Amino acid sequence: MATTGRRVGVIGAGMVGVCAASYLQRDGHSVFLVDPGNPGEGASFGNAGCFNASSVTPVAMPGVIRNVPKWLRDPLGPLSLRWRHLPAVLPYLYRFWRAGTEEKVHAQARALRPLVGPTLAMLRPLAEAAGAEKLIHQRGHLYVYRSAEALAKDGLAWTLRHENGVAVDEFDADELRQLEPALSRDYVRGLLVRENGHTDNPLALVTRLADHFRRQGGEIVRARAVGFRLEGRRLAAIVTDAGEFPADAAIVCAGAYSRPLAAGLGDKVPLETERGYHLMVGDPEAAPRIPTADADGKFVATPMALGLRLAGTVELAGLDAPPDWRRARILLEQARRMLPGLAPHHPEERLSVWMGHRPSLPDSLPVLGPSAASPDVIYAFGHGHVGMTAAPMTGRIVADLVAGRPVPIDIVPFAAGRFR
Ligand SMILES: Cc1cc2nc3c(=O)[nH]c(=O)nc-3n(C[C@H](O)[C@H](O)[C@H](O)COP(=O)(O)OP(=O)(O)OC[C@H]3O[C@@H](n4cnc5c(N)ncnc54)[C@H](O)[C@@H]3O)c2cc1C
Repeated sequence: MATTGRRVGVIGAGMVGVCAASYLQRDGHSVFLVDPGNPGEGASFGNAGCFNASSVTPVAMPGVIRNVPKWLRDPLGPLSLRWRHLPAVLPYLYRFWRAGTEEKVHAQARALRPLVGPTLAMLRPLAEAAGAEKLIHQRGHLYVYRSAEALAKDGLAWTLRHENGVAVDEFDADELRQLEPALSRDYVRGLLVRENGHTDNPLALVTRLADHFRRQGGEIVRARAVGFRLEGRRLAAIVTDAGEFPADAAIVCAGAYSRPLAAGLGDKVPLETERGYHLMVGDPEAAPRIPTADADGKFVATPMALGLRLAGTVELAGLDAPPDWRRARILLEQARRMLPGLAPHHPEERLSVWMGHRPSLPDSLPVLGPSAASPDVIYAFGHGHVGMTAAPMTGRIVADLVAGRPVPIDIVPFAAGRFR
């Protein structure tokens, strides 16, 4: 491929950065990725692997804040908070509470649908070119409930999905048993979204995309970006801990670590890490065929190439606190209730745990668009719970912005300036 366009540096080689780099490279630019680590070893490593086109429901739903005390008291609950981190996270929680009004969540869902809806269609060409198409499956995503009341409590979430054109098949207890025999008989309702897909190996997917990017002439620079050198409003170079790299455009895709890079350009964004965990069971005795979300426990069980992955939970504790592996163990206890065929005990060598940082904004929308200081520095971070899903369309939008083409969807709701 010709590399005759502009010189573009992409900061961060997670799923978002690698998709952006791939789309930019397709436009003929000379692209380099900057990351202090290996591609795909941030949040993109250990997620549930779901490409959920239906993920339009914000985290801050009306009334959700009322559940917080109950969740914090429950050691098996989906949320935990390190009290030492409370002062730092309070402004985020305030904005989170303010974002969760009925009117706002409808607008957030409308903004998200065009970003996540075409996920598989936008990902497939990249995956095929990289020889990674076998890592992607479309079996749908199943949401399971233990009671009709629990389903009714999620009514607004399903309304938002319906309003945005998500088709759903509903299963009663007997039908659910036929669809997924491994599931506990405690579940009485299942809702299947067939348009959703998943990867059975998120790290391998990002790695293959990055390898293809390199084979096409892309460069991967091992360095940590610390800022930008601007000449007036034009970008001259990306500044890193390994020196300056001249660039005509820069894309900020450093996930949960993007905040200081934006602050250096005068954009104050309330980016927070929602730490999440996974636990993997190698060679599991039972697993669903379709990625399955337990609506009460707020975790997902995904059949992966290397075993059964249980992923979820939110922990507010900042970027630096050590992991609390009990949060991962909880997922195994919950999975044994979801999948009664799982053994009651597993030898340690069959289990592995992971913690990662979801890059989250209080309104569950990413920051996507140009910085205040320069049209050459473009933000693409803060995709929270849906970064794998939103990455392909985000990459396409970034390429359109660099090329000066009209973007295919409305990105006004994602402007960095919305928090002023
Ligand atoms: C438990 C869990 C389950 C999840 N499940 C799903 C799911 O099923 N579907 C879904 O769509 N999403 C899911 N997510 C969310 C998803 O994983 C993230 O939104 C997504 O991976 C974010 O991608 P990213 O590229 O923005 O960030 P990352 O993957 O974190 O990549 C950021 C990269 O930037 C690099 N970096 C950091 N600072 C700098 C710097 N200064 N200079 C250069 N590079 C830097 C890092 O080294 C890293 O490689 C889940 C997340 C968690 C935690």
